[in-house]
Amino acid sequence: MSTHDFLIVGAGFAGSVCARVLADAGRKVHLVDRRDHVGGNAHDRLDAHGVRIHPYGPHIFHTNSKPVFEFLSRFTDWRFHELRVVAAVDGLLVPIPVNRTSLNRLYGLDLDEEGARRFLDKVRDPRVSLRTSEDVVVHSVGQDLCDKLFRGYTRKQWGLDLSELSASVAARIPVRCNDDDRYFTDAFQFMPARGYAALFDRMLDHPGITVSTGCDFLDARRDHAGAHVIYTGPIDAYFDHRYGPLPYRSLRFEHEHLPSVRSFQPTGIVTYPNDHAFTRITEAKHLTGEPHRGTSIMREYPRAEGDPYYPIPRPGNEALYKRYEALAKRQRGVTFVGRLAQYRYLNMDQVVEAALGAARALAGDRP
Ligand code: FAD
Ligand code: UDP
Repeated sequence: MSTHDFLIVGAGFAGSVCARVLADAGRKVHLVDRRDHVGGNAHDRLDAHGVRIHPYGPHIFHTNSKPVFEFLSRFTDWRFHELRVVAAVDGLLVPIPVNRTSLNRLYGLDLDEEGARRFLDKVRDPRVSLRTSEDVVVHSVGQDLCDKLFRGYTRKQWGLDLSELSASVAARIPVRCNDDDRYFTDAFQFMPARGYAALFDRMLDHPGITVSTGCDFLDARRDHAGAHVIYTGPIDAYFDHRYGPLPYRSLRFEHEHLPSVRSFQPTGIVTYPNDHAFTRITEAKHLTGEPHRGTSIMREYPRAEGDPYYPIPRPGNEALYKRYEALAKRQRGVTFVGRLAQYRYLNMDQVVEAALGAARALAGDRP
């Protein structure tokens, strides 16, 4: 029998938030992750040159949830940071989301805000129902902007056409007629002042929490019979892919250090909708604000095989997930929470919110 009340699988935001909430409520928790570090995909570290990088892709924290922000603020100070993104297209760098500046730059115009609205009204291709990501994009900006900025990127990122993806993917990116060039408009936009790894270390620093990294669920399970399991890994893997594998999109990250370049690009992220096999380049310095005489950049190459990074939002996948979800609901003594366990394209704050809800319900659920 386990000496712990809970065995938590996965030390990303989902598992680590659950661990802390339950430990604060007096429960004994053992947290395992098969990777050799905590933090899940939000993990960061210094590279060989002393630049803080995000090895699993750029992670920019943003939320409209005050409770989520206040919970995380117990474990970190923050650095104000609003992400800006430009797309490299037709030899130009244009703001994403599309705004007045993007239109003027791409088409050599001088539109004011009202003019930008009229321009988009003229070029958009209204759709009655917004079912797919293609519907969302052409409905708001029309075919030409769709082809310049969205179709190629999406094809690379997902291996699918916009028309094969649910509306929710493209709906992540709004369209603006003003000059606001921020990627997000959330009320709270901050980066952890000393990085995500430090945030996780503080969150998990509690006498009620023990952590084993480099440890798979299957090995941990043997020693923790009787403990309630909180599982944050891929839901189909938990059930041995009984109904077949759920599709995920993976990435290969290519890191490069440029010792004598102070700044490689004007913003933290530059996307390449139509050129190259990679989708975007991140220059970490912009995100962390940490000074360095050189800089480190990272290119993202999407691929089908490899670690599961993205659930792929489309109706067939959703239907398959629902079958796994039905199995999960019948499973006693196991809670499924997180981006992979819920097969949802969730941002960090949404995962924290889900984990807070799940763990607080379990904490009130004394045997
Ligand atoms: P994860 O972080 O994936 O953690 C799950 C953990 O479970 C993993 O560490 C894994 O090793 C472990 N695990 C799985 N199976 C087992 C097993 N059998 N045994 C042991 N351990 C196991 N969100 C934002 O808000 N802003 C962003 O800018 C942002 N950028 C992103 C960029 C990329 C490229 C990606 C992929 C995601 C991004 N996200 C972003 C989303 C963010 O990564 C997730 O919302 C969040 O990290 C999910 O946390 P999680 O705990 O659910 O999952
Ligand atoms: N997207 C695009 N062109 C861009 C940026 C984004 O077509 O220059 C589309 C693409 O389909 C992408 C989606 O918008 O998958 C969501 O982008 P986001 O930046 O939210 O993706 P993430 O950071 O989660 O990978």
